[in-house]
Amino acid sequence: MTAVAESVRSSELQALLDRAAAGGRLSAEEALELYVHAPLHALGAAADTVRRRRYAGTEHIATYIIERNINYTNVCVTACKFCAFYAPPKSEKGWSRELDDILRRCAETVELGGTQIMFQGGHHPDYGVEYYERAFSAIKAEFPQLVIHSLGASEVEHMSKVSGVTIEEAITRIKQAGLDSFAGAGAELLPARARQAIAPLKESGERWLEIMETAHGLGLESTSTMLMGTGETNAERIEHLRMIRDVQDRTGGFRAFIPYTYQPENNHLKGRTQATILEYLRMIAIGRLFFDNVAHLQGSWLTVGKEAGQLSLHYGADDLGSVMLEENVVSSAGAKHRSNRMELIHLIRAAGRVPAQRDTTYHHLAVHEDPANDPVDDRVVSHLSSTALDGGTAHPGLKIVEAR
Ligand code: SF4
Repeated sequence: MTAVAESVRSSELQALLDRAAAGGRLSAEEALELYVHAPLHALGAAADTVRRRRYAGTEHIATYIIERNINYTNVCVTACKFCAFYAPPKSEKGWSRELDDILRRCAETVELGGTQIMFQGGHHPDYGVEYYERAFSAIKAEFPQLVIHSLGASEVEHMSKVSGVTIEEAITRIKQAGLDSFAGAGAELLPARARQAIAPLKESGERWLEIMETAHGLGLESTSTMLMGTGETNAERIEHLRMIRDVQDRTGGFRAFIPYTYQPENNHLKGRTQATILEYLRMIAIGRLFFDNVAHLQGSWLTVGKEAGQLSLHYGADDLGSVMLEENVVSSAGAKHRSNRMELIHLIRAAGRVPAQRDTTYHHLAVHEDPANDPVDDRVVSHLSSTALDGGTAHPGLKIVEAR
């Protein structure tokens, strides 16, 4: 390319960025062009402009949440190729948690100031709607203050088949039992080729979206996720965003977009491909520019590391995820980053923002304006009792609130 042609190209890209930064809607083709070719810092600056305008008045704040993933079983019939967590039925490595154990984990969450649990597990061949009804109603009876932000379309598809009921009935019944919102698990990559390559036994991307759309229509909002780095093309990444945005135009039910990166250990894909930090940051930025209809953009420290998490706050993210008191799924696949509440607060502050603890619907519970008043409970650490770590079980040092 000649110098003149390069200069024209560069000014075209900047014009596109300026239009997006001013609130203009990007087509999928324009988003792909920017995702692949825009200079990194210009892309981030445009996304940050959008974030600042969307959160005018609170743009100095970045949020986090305290939550716990509760993995109720690793037994799964779906055998996704990127997954290091599951065990096939009848495998000696399979386990399921008793309800008492689940409730004890909820009790620890409450004791440590957690507000949300993510119920997350395999597609157990015996777990139909009844299983989730029993679990959610027991949790809500014991801990009504905990928000159950859990599951996704894949689990709904599976439980409705096991119980022989419609998707609508499955969603209605688990909502009545206590589910507050869907975490949007199982989105992985929605475009057909990329999804088939890594999760051939999962429902199609169209079906995943259809179920989430049904859930939104039945009054259950959700977040949306994206798994990056399993060999998908840039065009497939942008197509994933387009598919979500089209549904969001109809429902408005996706509260947030949360991209995260594939972890390479202990799974069938064997780490042959991985997303780089720069690809991840570009995705955060293009997500903020493309999703003019999704409120929140979550940066992740768990899969990309703390420094990249901090950087994401300058590339369009308004939230740095959670202190996950327990996490086993991506940790089993090699995610080694660990943190705690005090460190997360420090990371946000060091990135130039005021940290605030939020709830599931992104309302601020505590804004940490003054470091002198920061919370100091050093028990609020990530992976407190993760089974993915040696010796991981309920933390022996905690004073456990009696559960049942
Ligand atoms: S990602 Fe979920 S559905 Fe897929 S194998 Fe793992 S536990 Fe099963």
